Amino acid sequence: MKGRLLFIKEWCRKRQLVYKEALAKILQEAVKNVHTVEQREYMERRLSQEIILSSASLPDWFDKALLEGMTKVLKDSDAPRNSFSSQQSCIPFEAGRFNAHRQAETVFKAIFKGKTPQQWTRTSFSVLYGMCYGQEAVPGLRVEEISPCMFRIHMPRKDLANASPLDCSTVMGYLYGAMEKLGADGILVLHDKCSLAWEEVFPECVFELSWNE
Ligand SMILES: [Zn+2]
Repeated sequence: MKGRLLFIKEWCRKRQLVYKEALAKILQEAVKNVHTVEQREYMERRLSQEIILSSASLPDWFDKALLEGMTKVLKDSDAPRNSFSSQQSCIPFEAGRFNAHRQAETVFKAIFKGKTPQQWTRTSFSVLYGMCYGQEAVPGLRVEEISPCMFRIHMPRKDLANASPLDCSTVMGYLYGAMEKLGADGILVLHDKCSLAWEEVFPECVFELSWNE
C-alpha cells in the first residue's frame, strides 16, 4: 500500500496534478469495486487518512480495488488499462515498476544486492512473490530457464483473490523494474498467455522475461 501511495504521489508530481485531489478521486472510483458497506468504510478510512498497512496485513480485495481506481483516474483517456508487453506501458505496469525500484533500494535491498539478473529470476523472484501473494502461491510457481537471458515464469493465478488482469500488468512492471535495477538492458517482458484475461484458453499465467546478453 505504501508503494501504491508513493507511486500516486510521484505520478502527480510528474504530471503536475494535485495529489490530494487525485487521491480523493481514486478513492471514489476504488470503492465502486468493493462489495460491502464494511469494505467501503474500511477503504475510505485507510485512504482518506493515509493509514498505511503492509500488503500482508491488508485484505485481499483492497489492492485489487485500489488498482482499479488508480488506473481509472491516472490513465490518459486513450491509454489502455492493462497490457501484455513491456513495450506498451500502462498505469499498473508503471506502478509495479516503481515498486521494484523502491523495494530494491529499501525493504528488499538484501534480496537484490549483488545478484545477476539470472540469479534473481531463478531464486529471488519466488521469495518476493510469496511475500506479496502469500506462501500458498509459491509451490505452483515454476521458473523455466530457456537460455541464460531468457526465462519463462509459470504462475497459477486463477485462485488468487487479489489477482486480476490489471494485477498481471503490475507483475510485468515489477519484473521489468527489477531487471532495470539489476543492470540488464534490452529488457522485454511478455505476458500474452494470461489465465485471467483469457480464462477459457490458458490454465495458468505465463510471463516471458528476456534481456540482452
Ligand atoms: Zn495473467
